[in-house]
Order: sequence, then structure tokens, then C-alpha cells
Amino acid sequence: MKQIIIHYGELSTKGKNRKMFQRKLADQIRHLTKHLEKVTIQPEFDFMYVKWDETPYEDIIEILKNVPGISRFEPVYQVDKDLDQIKAKALELFAAIEIAPSDTFKIVAKRQDKDFPYDSYAIQREVGSAVGEVYQEMAVEMKRPTHKLTVSVHKDRDAYLSLNHYQGIGGMPYGSSGKGMLMLSGGFDSPIAGYQMIKRGLELEAVHFSSPPYTSPQSLEKTKKLTSVLTQYGLPMKFHNVPFAKIQEAIRDNVPDQASMTVTRRFMLRIMDELLVQNKAQAIVNGESLGQVASQTIDSMVVINEVTNTPVLRPLIAMDKTEIIELAEKIGTHDISNEPFEDCCTVFAPVAPHTKPKLAPIEEMEKRLDIEGLIADALANTTVETIDSDYIDNQQNQFAGLL
Ligand code: ATP
Ligand code: MG
Repeated sequence: MKQIIIHYGELSTKGKNRKMFQRKLADQIRHLTKHLEKVTIQPEFDFMYVKWDETPYEDIIEILKNVPGISRFEPVYQVDKDLDQIKAKALELFAAIEIAPSDTFKIVAKRQDKDFPYDSYAIQREVGSAVGEVYQEMAVEMKRPTHKLTVSVHKDRDAYLSLNHYQGIGGMPYGSSGKGMLMLSGGFDSPIAGYQMIKRGLELEAVHFSSPPYTSPQSLEKTKKLTSVLTQYGLPMKFHNVPFAKIQEAIRDNVPDQASMTVTRRFMLRIMDELLVQNKAQAIVNGESLGQVASQTIDSMVVINEVTNTPVLRPLIAMDKTEIIELAEKIGTHDISNEPFEDCCTVFAPVAPHTKPKLAPIEEMEKRLDIEGLIADALANTTVETIDSDYIDNQQNQFAGLL
């Protein structure tokens, strides 16, 4: 049997919610490993065991590195209750890590099985000298060792060793903080906004406003692929495609160019509010970053936000574009966002949008539009599908099958 111990950081401070947090985390680990093998998850008070048989450690480690709610984790290696085997495994584990000249180490042993002929102190001494012999430059350090090897000799089971710790991404388990809906364009920002909120435990559904025939099928496809990447950090996600062309045509024909962006955004938020009710979600998430474009000045946000009382979460508000791009590269959305297909906002983008719109004139202009009718029509024609992390592979296979 192979096993990893997971430490959950912030989660352990949540008192009564602990069980729910643990269940959400366990659900997600099971989901993300299901294509490999069935794993057993055993929650303890402030850590959790993941146990399995066949899959190599590396494959499970790669998955756990990206699961929200895990602050760090350590693989635990099993050997027979035999001192030579314990020593051999200890040396193998040290051989697999990088050791700098000034590094120090410590062995911590726990003997639960009193029939084992060496007590904890003797195990520490024996294993310590075996390691010290091979790594003569590495000193023993009790207080703050660079490397800590733990040896546990269990009563009913075998002996277990652990040395390497891995950092997780932190945050909270997916879905443990409620549900929001992500306004997902094909750009760089909104998928990162989604990732940030997923990491903070918010369950998400994606909403994309598309404007065929002005926008291409590839533009829609791009957003679905971005959704698919996001599901690698959460669970399968609903994707709502809202047809937006009629609204954009009505705005183009009735609203002065400079104000069209503000009015367009207000329509998006009104529709988001309806979708939130329909899907029992509590917050809107978008990729706005202060001052990035005309619609993202404080003055614009005030006038746009005026149509809703729902919390609009803007995790990127204080981030620079370079930081956003770096994160996009790290989480795997960069190359998809970089594809050239334009979304509805770009196609209808005004030449010189207002950066300081005023509410009263905007409301006046909106009187020329059948707001309720347009929204009802868009909602009636909205389509929904569920997207999973294998979406991109499946699309590629289908495409290959057509050739
Ligand atoms: P992004 O890189 O996410 O496209 P952006 O810098 O291009 O953002 P805007 O086009 O002003 O900025 O959009 C601001 C936010 O509004 C986006 O981050 C996204 O959350 C939302 N948004 C914009 N266009 C759409 C769309 N077609 N469908 C859904 N949401 C959208
Ligand atoms: Mg955009």
C-alpha cells in the first residue's frame, strides 16, 4: 500500500465545518484520481491519509500539488518491520533529494510496536548513523533541521518512513465557500479570476456571452477549453452560453458609441443576476483589474455596478497584467487565451469609450431599449452544458476522427 499524508492549513481552524471541509476535499481528490485507480481517503483530526496500491507516487503527487485546501503533504513509504529495510529506505529517500553543503538533518522515530527490538531512541541512533555515514558533510540538528526523516513502527502494520514534503496551493476545498458564477470571456483575465476564487473554495459555474454571427465558433470553443482547464482545480463545471448579439445590436443602434460599453456591461450584470437566481448561486465573479481598460475605472464600475446588489467579486482588482499572465502560464490557460479569436466585447468595442460615465444620462439612454424583453429573450435562448477536464482531449479525438 502507498500513502500520502495531507495537511490542510486554514481548514483546521474551521471548527464545526471541519467535517464538511474534509468531505469536499475528499470528493475532489477522488474525482481527480478516478482515471488512475480507486483511492481510499481516511480523515483524521487535522490531517488526512490518501491510500492506494498501484499508481506511482509521482502521479498522485502531481495531482495533489494543485488541489485547493491542501497546504502541504508528505508521501509515506512502507517497508517491513526490519531495521535493515528501514535503513535502506532511509538512504533511498535521501538519495532522491538535493542536499546542499550546509544542510542538516534529524531522524524522528515512533515505536508503537513494543515487540520491535529497537526502541524509538535506538531507531533514531541506528538510522541516523547510517545516514550520517553516507552524508558525512550533513550535520545532525535537533531544533531546525533542513531535512526531517520520520520513521513510524506501527503495531498492526509495517514501518513507515517519510522525508519529502511538498507544498500545496493552499486555499480551501472546492465548494466549501458557497457558489458563484464566473463571467468568462476568452481573454487572459477572467479564467485567472475563476482560478483565484476556486482556490478560495468557491464552487463556480461559467457564463459566456457570445454574439454569433459576429463572433466565431472558435471563440466559443476557446471559452469552453478555458472552462475545462479550470475544472482541473475543481469539479466538472456548468457552462452557460448566453446569446448576446441582439442586445449588442440594440445598443449599437440606440446608444451613442461612447456610452455603449457601460450599457453593455449593465446588461451583462442584469443577466448574471437572473442566472444566479436560476442556479442558486450567491456571487458574481469577473476578471476586472482596476484601471486596465475604460470599463474598469472606479467611475465606470460605480455606474455599471448600480444595476445589482449582488456581491461582485473581482479577485484581480489589484493585480498587474504581468502578474496575471504569469499565473495564466502556471495554471495552463495562457496558450488558450492567446488564441486569436475575438469575443463579443472586442467585436462591438467603441472607438473611444467613456472612462467617467454618469449614471443619469446612461439611465436616460437605456429608456430607448426594451430591457426586460431583450433579457428575457437572451435567457430563453441560453444553453447549458457540463464541461469536465477531459473536454479538450475529447474534442481533439473527435476532430482526429473526422479526418
Ligand atoms: P478578459 O481578459 O477576462 O477578457 P479584459 O481585460 O478583456 O478581461 P473586459 O473585456 O473589459 O476586460 O472584461 C472585463 C470582465 O468582464 C472580464 O474579465 C469578464 O469577467 C467579463 N466579460 C467580458 N466579456 C465577457 C464575455 N463575452 N462573456 C462573459 N464575461 C465577459
Ligand atoms: Mg476581454
